[in-house]
Amino acid sequence: MEGGVISTEDAILSQVTRPDLRTIYTEGMAAIAAAADLASIEDTRVRFLGRKADLTTLLRSIPELPAEERPELGKYGNMIRKTLETALEERRIVVEAEELLHGLERDRIDVTLPGRKSPLGRLHLIAQTQREIEDIFIGMGYQIAEGPEVENDYYNFEALNTPADHPARSLHDTFFITDTVLLRTHTSPMQVRTMEKQAPPVHIIVPGKAYRRDSDATHTPMFHQCEGLVVDEGVTLADLKGTLETFVHAMFGADRKVRLRPHFFPFTEPSVEVDVSCIMCDGAGCRLCKKSGWLEILGAGMVDPNVFGFVGYDPEVYTGFAFGMGIERIAMLKHGVNDLRLFFENDLRFLRQF
Ligand SMILES: [Zn+2]
Repeated sequence: MEGGVISTEDAILSQVTRPDLRTIYTEGMAAIAAAADLASIEDTRVRFLGRKADLTTLLRSIPELPAEERPELGKYGNMIRKTLETALEERRIVVEAEELLHGLERDRIDVTLPGRKSPLGRLHLIAQTQREIEDIFIGMGYQIAEGPEVENDYYNFEALNTPADHPARSLHDTFFITDTVLLRTHTSPMQVRTMEKQAPPVHIIVPGKAYRRDSDATHTPMFHQCEGLVVDEGVTLADLKGTLETFVHAMFGADRKVRLRPHFFPFTEPSVEVDVSCIMCDGAGCRLCKKSGWLEILGAGMVDPNVFGFVGYDPEVYTGFAFGMGIERIAMLKHGVNDLRLFFENDLRFLRQF
């Protein structure tokens, strides 16, 4: 083999004389070279090396051939089979590499394309309003108290001066779980729970969910309240009015006026309803304020001394005031929302405006 390497192909063709073997060999090598993907590689394998391939049939027929034909067919037939197998395997490796490369080309990421936007969530208007209220009262030195939405009758009614036979209980359409366990109808139970745990002075607000069996255009079975409680020596109705004015000015603007009207609540005495001068007409009278010039925003009053009896505060020493507002109502008035149900339908077209 001096002067160069004789390829297997040349070696085979120079020695094999049988035309059928020569044809199988040249056609097989040509098909392998032409196979451009893994599917045609497999087709080629079946066609030239499979159980029904011509070469397989020929090799299987050796025992029946005349003795002088057997050596050539045996030797070169197997040599051709091995050569085709090797060529096919080499071709498969090349095709696989090519397919991988094409796949990478095809799936290439264009880093210059703009990125996909992930939509930014935001706080629900109720949550925003609640936080705004919290911030105003935190600024006045209040602490936030949160408590259970599933309450005992004792904390929801009894300790708030509303015993079982009290007529005010009919004001509450209560969701009872058992005879004595219920979904709180207001956030006031936390006022009692706080006073049980701590001696005066108390300055808290209690924001959270409350539940009543009410459902129409102006009531939902679940709603949000924020109540407040102040207890200390010498707290008066004037302190209550000053506090609420500070709140109203921070929430609705410095030029709002505040008005207290006598009212009744079981656990405050005296009790008042608190109005703010209409944010639409500034007191002149319009549809929103029903021509009165005033909008009711919350209820309040001086804590009934009876309530102090339940928590062991001395009513001769301490006085206090309490107030409660609906967060939905505050949000509606502040943002001109005219239907309570909009808060709970979760229509993004509505929610995105805030
Ligand atoms: Zn008005």
